Amino acid sequence: MTNKNLKIFKFGGASVRDAQSIVNLSNILNSYQNDKLIVVISAIDKTTRELTKLTDLYFQQADYTTQYNKIINKHANIIEELFVDSSFIKAEFKKLLVGLKQKLASKPSSNYDFEYDQIVVYGELFSTKIIAAYLKQQGFNTEWVDIRHLMRTDTNYRNARVDWQKSQELLQTHLLHSNSKLIITQGFIASNIQGLNTTLGIEGSDFSAAIIAYALDAEKMIVWKDVPGFYSSDPKIFENVIKLDVVSFREAVELAYFGAKIIHPKTIKPLQNKKIPLLVKSFLQPDAPGTIIKNSTDNKTGLQPNVPVFITKNSQILISIAPLDFSFIDENNLSYIFALLARFRIKVNLMQNSAISFSICVDNISEGFERLLSELKHNYRVLYNKDLTLITIRHYNQDIIDELITGRKVFVQQKSRRTARFVVR
Ligand code: ASP
Ligand code: MG
Repeated sequence: MTNKNLKIFKFGGASVRDAQSIVNLSNILNSYQNDKLIVVISAIDKTTRELTKLTDLYFQQADYTTQYNKIINKHANIIEELFVDSSFIKAEFKKLLVGLKQKLASKPSSNYDFEYDQIVVYGELFSTKIIAAYLKQQGFNTEWVDIRHLMRTDTNYRNARVDWQKSQELLQTHLLHSNSKLIITQGFIASNIQGLNTTLGIEGSDFSAAIIAYALDAEKMIVWKDVPGFYSSDPKIFENVIKLDVVSFREAVELAYFGAKIIHPKTIKPLQNKKIPLLVKSFLQPDAPGTIIKNSTDNKTGLQPNVPVFITKNSQILISIAPLDFSFIDENNLSYIFALLARFRIKVNLMQNSAISFSICVDNISEGFERLLSELKHNYRVLYNKDLTLITIRHYNQDIIDELITGRKVFVQQKSRRTARFVVR
C-alpha cells in the first residue's frame, strides 16, 4: 500500500550550489505544503570532489590546510549570505567540524577507501545542516535526520552494498512515524554495523532517495535537475533534442545503463519493484511538467513521443585481447579476464568476441587500465585504441545512424532489434 502524499525529493549538488540556489529550493518546497516530504540532498556543488582531494592529501600525510580552508570557507560564505541570525547554524557547523578535525589529526590507516568514506560524508552533513537551518528560519517545520543511523550497508567502503531489510526496518520506524512534515536528510552516505561511515558510490544520492521511497512505499519520487527532464539526447551537447514526456522503467534503466547522465542507473530498480513513479523536473522551471518515468503495463518502452534516443560516452578505450597460445575465447579465458576486470573495478560498456579474440570497450580510468594491461600481457596479446566515443542509439533508424556516424571511423558496431551501438573516433 502506498503512503499517499508522501513524496521523496532529491536535490543534487548543482541545485544547491550557492546561497541563491538554496533560496530557490526553499521556494520550491513552499508549493508542496500539503505533502509529507522527505528531501534527500547531496553535497554543495563539487564538495565531494574537493573532499576527495582533501582525503588524498591526508592519506599521503601532506599539508592539507589550504584544501581544508577552501572547503570550510565556501560553506561559511553561504552561511553569511543566508542567515539573518547565524548563531545557531554556526554552532551546529562547529560541532560537525570537531569530528572532521579529529579525523584529520589522527593517523590514516592503510585502507584508502575506508579513509575516503570517513571524510567525504561531511559534504552531505554540511549541506543538509545549512539547508535545514535555513528552512527553519523561513518558517518551515523541519527535522534534520542523520541518514547514517537509518541506512545500513556492508563494509565495502566507497561502494557499499545496502542491507535492504535492516535499512527498511530502520527507515520505517524512524521516518514513517515522525510528525514532521518536512524531513531533510543526506544522499550518498550510510553506515555499517560498526557504526562507521560508508558511501554508496559516486553520484549515489539518486539511489539513496530511491531506497527511501522503496522502504516507505512513497507515492512518488521527484529528482530536481538543471534540465527540464529526460531528453532524446544530452541537451548540453546536441541541438534539436526532444524532451520525453513519458519513459517506462524498462527504457529508463536501459538509457541510464548506457550512460544517460540524467539519473543514476541503480535508481530504477527499487522504484520499479514497488511501481513508484519517478518524476524528473527542473529546479529552474519547477512548474514545467518534466518527464515521468513509470511502469508500462505492456512492458514496452512507454516512450512519449516515440523517437530515437541516443547517448554518447567519450574517453573510451577499446581493448582487444587474444590468447597467446591461440586457444579459443571460451569460459576459462572469459572468467579469467572478468575476474581481472572485477579486481581492478573496470566496468565494461560493450563487448564482442570472435574465435580467438575478445574486445571490450571501457571508461578510461588510467590506473585500473594500466594494471589490467600488465596482468593480461602474461597470457594474451593485447591491443588497444584510446580516446574513442561509444554511441548508443535506442529505437534507431538509418537517418539517425547516418547523422551520427558519417565521417567517423567505426571500430565496432552492434545492432539488436532496438539498440545500435558504435565505437567510433
Ligand atoms: N555528493 C556525492 C557525489 O558527488 C553524491 C551525489 O552527488 O549524488 O558523488
Ligand atoms: Mg554530487
